[in-house]
Amino acid sequence: MKVRAKETKRPLRMIVANWKMHPDSVSEAKALFLASKKEAMRRKNVQTIIAAPFVYLAELHTRAVGARVSPIMLGAQDVSGEKGGTHTGEISAEMLAGVGVSHVIVGHSERRARGENDDIVAQKVSAALKKGLVVILCIGETARDTSGNYLSIIETQLRIAFATVPKAILKSVIIAYEPVWAISGGDGRGQTATSDDVHEMVIFIRKILTSMYTRPSAERVPILYGGSVGGENALVLMQQGMIDGFLVGGASLKPHLFGAILTATNEK
Ligand code: PEP
Repeated sequence: MKVRAKETKRPLRMIVANWKMHPDSVSEAKALFLASKKEAMRRKNVQTIIAAPFVYLAELHTRAVGARVSPIMLGAQDVSGEKGGTHTGEISAEMLAGVGVSHVIVGHSERRARGENDDIVAQKVSAALKKGLVVILCIGETARDTSGNYLSIIETQLRIAFATVPKAILKSVIIAYEPVWAISGGDGRGQTATSDDVHEMVIFIRKILTSMYTRPSAERVPILYGGSVGGENALVLMQQGMIDGFLVGGASLKPHLFGAILTATNEK
C-alpha cells in the first residue's frame, strides 16, 4: 500500500518525534507509540509525526488511525538515495511508502557524522520526493562562530539538497533547523539555542529559499527547530523563534515530556 504525502501547508504546527535507535523491542515500541498517540490526540492544532526505527514501521502503521487524517503520522529516520537493486542494508523510498510511511527525515546530523555529505543528502531528498514522501530535511552547523561562517554552512546545505527540487514539489518539504551543538546526548537536556538564534535562522532560511524559488513558496515551507527541546523552553521558542514546530529526540521517548512540548506547540 502506498500513502501519498498530504500537502504540507503552513501554519499547521507540527512535531516530529525522532526515536533514534529506541526502544529495544517491538512491544516497547507499540506501547510508546500508543502513549504518544494519546498525547497527540489531545492537541488538535498539532500534526505529530513519529519517526521510528525501520523494523517497527509496518507494525506501528496499523496503530496510526487512518494515516492521512490522523493527527499522528509515521516517519522513517533515513532513506536510501537508490531506487532498488544491489544495495545491501539499504531501504528504498518505495519500501517505506509501501508500509504506510508518509514522512522521512533526511540529513540528520548523526547520519552526516557517519559520512553522509550534502550530495548524498540531495540524492536521498530526490528519491524520497519522487515516491511521494514528505522530506524533513535536517540542516545545522556544528558550531557558532563570530564571523557568521555558520550561515554559509546552512546556505550550502540548503542549496545542494534542493538543487534539483522543482518549485511545485517544495510543498512536500519541511526543514528542521538543528544546530548540532544543541542536540542532547539522548536525555533531551543539552544547550538549547536561544529564541533569537532560532529567529535569525528562520529569516535566513526563508531568504535562501526565496532566492531559489519565490517568496510565496518559500513562506509556505514549515521550519522546525530541534535541539534539547523540553516542556520548559518549547513555548518561548515557538512564540519568539517564529518556528512551525519541533523535531524532538530525547524527550520524545518520555510521553509526559512529549505531552508538555505538544501542549506548548498547541497553545502558541
Ligand atoms: C535530534 O537528535 O534530532 C534531537 C533534536 O535530539 P534532542 O531533542 O535529544 O536534542
